[in-house]
Amino acid sequence: MTARIVLKAGKDESVKRLHPWVFSGAVKGVQGSMEHGDWVEVLTSRGEFLACGHYQHSGSITVRILTWEKEEPDVGFWRRKIEAALNRRIVAGIANRPDLNAWRLVFAEGDQLSGLIIDCYDHHFVVQCHSAGMERSLPLITEALREVFGEALKSIAIKAEAGKSDNQLPLAEFPGAGETTGAMITEYGCKYLVNWKTGQKTGFFLDQRENRRLLGNLAKGKKVLNTFCYTGGFSLAALQGGASLVHSVDSSAPAIELLRENLELNGYDPALHQAFVSDTQQFLKNPPETYDIIILDPPAYAKHLSARHNAIQGYRRLNAAALQILPPGGLLMTFSCSQVVDRRMFEGAVMAAALDTGRRVTILQRLVQPADHPVSLFHPEGEYLKGLLLMAE
Ligand code: SAH
Repeated sequence: MTARIVLKAGKDESVKRLHPWVFSGAVKGVQGSMEHGDWVEVLTSRGEFLACGHYQHSGSITVRILTWEKEEPDVGFWRRKIEAALNRRIVAGIANRPDLNAWRLVFAEGDQLSGLIIDCYDHHFVVQCHSAGMERSLPLITEALREVFGEALKSIAIKAEAGKSDNQLPLAEFPGAGETTGAMITEYGCKYLVNWKTGQKTGFFLDQRENRRLLGNLAKGKKVLNTFCYTGGFSLAALQGGASLVHSVDSSAPAIELLRENLELNGYDPALHQAFVSDTQQFLKNPPETYDIIILDPPAYAKHLSARHNAIQGYRRLNAAALQILPPGGLLMTFSCSQVVDRRMFEGAVMAAALDTGRRVTILQRLVQPADHPVSLFHPEGEYLKGLLLMAE
């Protein structure tokens, strides 16, 4: 029998409103025995069925809900979930395009799959689990992936991110998993090498795809500074758009190495580009050029609420440093991917930066995560990428 979690009276509202997390404080008791990662049912205090999901014995989230139907997580369940996620990307015009072969197939809560990320790189699939339940489901998830994609599937890799998974289960080995470690992808005509074994996250920051494309449309004849450039996502988009000069800055030497390979792969004139292994804030103190467009795409400054205040101060300092060196009429494309810093707070930090520097700044466009990083209307926490396209006078 499937074990059951019974909620306290009045604590079932959020589950009924389709929020996918049951917090430990909402739990009245359990029926049956359950282990970390088990499939469980969630019941109201009166014993009515509400939902099913993965149980977690540690942390503040006790159940990650995956369905509001009474069902079993067999291979058919995972196949239907993956098919629904794929259909979202097809409807959104992302999957099945000739000029684009890298996209996020599954984005956790946004696809009603809390704890699971799957990225597709030219039909090599990279799977990341953020819960014990998902790790334990890997054999079925990978089988379902093979069923959905059939012959088109080239490989499956399991990416374990140190410190991310909230459990200590060893990752099982899967036939064929881990044999392929990289691929070449195409994003609106730009080619990039991706290595999910040695790279950051699953190897590439797919969430900036539309913002890279926007930069390409703005870059003709412009001098562009791309900070936190990683393997050159925005740099290549700027060169493709006809930038007259691109400077790329990242503190990671391996990322800059892959950027160099990416430049070569696309055949850009090396004279148009220069890379710097440096801390961005240091670089901005004494830049070798004046730039028409500056990109700021830092890693998440705050991963937890406790770090939020410092993160906001960090965004303020960073944006002030960039605004300081931007000529009149210059553009700043600035981002925050910290989930705990919401858009209002981020814009507040950028406003403070503008006041610090005495610049008049206009928002030309608000920037967001793309449709392959969908957000459940009932789980607004899934909206994490916030950006601004600004013009400084
Ligand atoms: N814009 C990139 C993704 C950026 S990810 C893209 O489109 O692909 C954030 C990057 O910031 C990582 O490559 C990381 O190595 C780099 N980074 C982290 N701290 C840094 C710092 N203090 N100065 C410069 N780069 C930094």
